[in-house]
Amino acid sequence: MPLRRVRARQSGGPRVGHRPFNALPMSHDHDDLPAIDLDHTPRDVVARVIDPVADRDWAELLSPARRRALLAGAGLATAAATTMAAAPSRTPQVVNAGGAGARVSAGGVLLPIAGPGTSPWGTATAAQPTPRPPGVRPDEQVLPTSPRPYTAIRSYHAHIYFDEDSYEKAALIRRWTVERFPVELGDWNLEPRGPHVTPSFYYGFTPDLLPIVVPWLQLNSLGLTILIHPNTGDPRSDHLHYALWVNRSQSVNAYAWRRFVDGGGGDVEQINPNIIPTVPLET
Ligand code: ZN
Repeated sequence: MPLRRVRARQSGGPRVGHRPFNALPMSHDHDDLPAIDLDHTPRDVVARVIDPVADRDWAELLSPARRRALLAGAGLATAAATTMAAAPSRTPQVVNAGGAGARVSAGGVLLPIAGPGTSPWGTATAAQPTPRPPGVRPDEQVLPTSPRPYTAIRSYHAHIYFDEDSYEKAALIRRWTVERFPVELGDWNLEPRGPHVTPSFYYGFTPDLLPIVVPWLQLNSLGLTILIHPNTGDPRSDHLHYALWVNRSQSVNAYAWRRFVDGGGGDVEQINPNIIPTVPLET
């Protein structure tokens, strides 16, 4: 709703004589009315702008019959009035919901405010059909005819992620692990490394330890994010699609790795334990 309309009512009711007829809303096109910048408009002015009484007066003024009469009186073409006859239900208004201004049609539908240019996507994206993306897992272009044997998993990795605020928790998990589990423990990684996007350390373990390591990490994660992935000879899928997470998950940057069906992967990683436990496992 333009400020001019408010001033018209303040001076004795709606009038349009000061405004060319071709400046009136001529159709339901939302561009016909200028938007009000609520962030830079005094609060009392905004309150008057959304005055429902003024809105009703304006709606009455612009009723199809009144507008036809006005247009006829101004000598404008009747054809233009025919176009306007469809407009009243879509005449944009400004509503104030929760302090934020928005333009809506009389039916309550939100209307866009024109941007400074045109979208590079064009105006037909909403009508695009939904395409089917290619499968991301190996051999998933069609449904498999049989399940994969679980014995394809030859070992597991547990990656414990941390940052500058949580590294002491990681150190405690690392020490507790070394005391209790015969695993292959890797170095500290204080920078992102491989597909791991935050500092981390990892240990590898054989599948027989899985029923112990998983619940132990569930109860002793200290809130850290932990990735547990199998090793099947397809590291891309092992990291992206076959993983377990303790607590929150986080990004794993392995999408650039070559797919197994395209020759990615190879030998299954073997586990060579380098830790001899010294503390009996609590049960
Ligand atoms: Zn790993």
